[in-house]
Amino acid sequence: MVVVLRPGISPEEKQSLIAAFEGRGLRVDVSEGERQTVLGLVGDTSSLDEAQIASLKGVESARRVTESFRRCSRREHGESAVAQIGHVRIGGGHFALIAGPCAVESEEQILAVARAVRAAGADMLRGGAFKPRTSPYVFSGLGEEGLALLKLARAETGLPIVSEIMSCEQLPLFEDVDLLQVGARNMQNFELLRELGRIDKPILLKRGLSATLRELLMSAEHIMAGGNERVILCERGIRTFSDYTRNTLDLSAVPELHELTQLPVIVDPSHATGRSALVGPMALAAAAAGADGVMIEVHCDPPRALSDAAQALSCEKFAALAEKIRAVREAALS
Ligand code: PEP
Ligand code: MN
Repeated sequence: MVVVLRPGISPEEKQSLIAAFEGRGLRVDVSEGERQTVLGLVGDTSSLDEAQIASLKGVESARRVTESFRRCSRREHGESAVAQIGHVRIGGGHFALIAGPCAVESEEQILAVARAVRAAGADMLRGGAFKPRTSPYVFSGLGEEGLALLKLARAETGLPIVSEIMSCEQLPLFEDVDLLQVGARNMQNFELLRELGRIDKPILLKRGLSATLRELLMSAEHIMAGGNERVILCERGIRTFSDYTRNTLDLSAVPELHELTQLPVIVDPSHATGRSALVGPMALAAAAAGADGVMIEVHCDPPRALSDAAQALSCEKFAALAEKIRAVREAALS
């Protein structure tokens, strides 16, 4: 971190600032200019707060030169991380096609979707059992029964399953779920992130509704700081002034995140757009932009879906899209 001192700071004040930084285990490189002094703080500065240091008496400004996310920093780790979920790999050149309904609704529904997406070449099955809904008066998932039905679908199709966990108390229920999803609304539920950092399971961390990339990475860092490095990031659209889509897909987040972090990055074009007609083009764009996977909502009878009906692809449309995604991937790699 670079700390610029105010012109005219007294030698005593300067000395006490330097001593305070050294007291925190940092080396302080002092650069005396004609009018101003600049301090270079060397060492582990991850616990320092720029704004707090800038507010100290005698300090004009403070700026980080290294990011405070270290465990998920590409600069520190270089190689792309590969997440292993059962037999499926995501990241480092491995692309995963994840598909399934917004919510598990019944045995017939989840088995029919699972069979269809499997036949279309999906690698994993998604399905919400605990659904975060804006209204308290609508279907909010089958809960534990939904997880049991997902496992049934996995047993039949062999597809690993991903489902959203909403609280620490639900952890025991997710023991046999292959990939645990943290939804957009929980991206900064730090208590949940801390608990997920203590387990040895892959975590799919979705970007918050109006979270910056830095905030997303700091949330990943929360999980990783506890020892669980198996994190996959998901861009799922952010809030903007757009009134023709549910959210705005921030596609440039994909190559930007690939620069910033070694973690795999997937895209959810379903929640990003909220409209089934836009899901296909955005899924293809995500594949072309280098995403490590896409997660798509599919229902065998979209108009009758109990949640997110407007953005669900029919099984037939998904099968046609899956083929195009493979073609785009190949073109992007060649
Ligand atoms: C979901 O994927 O089921 C979901 C609720 O998405 P998000 O958290 O991105 O809104
Ligand atoms: Mn949904």
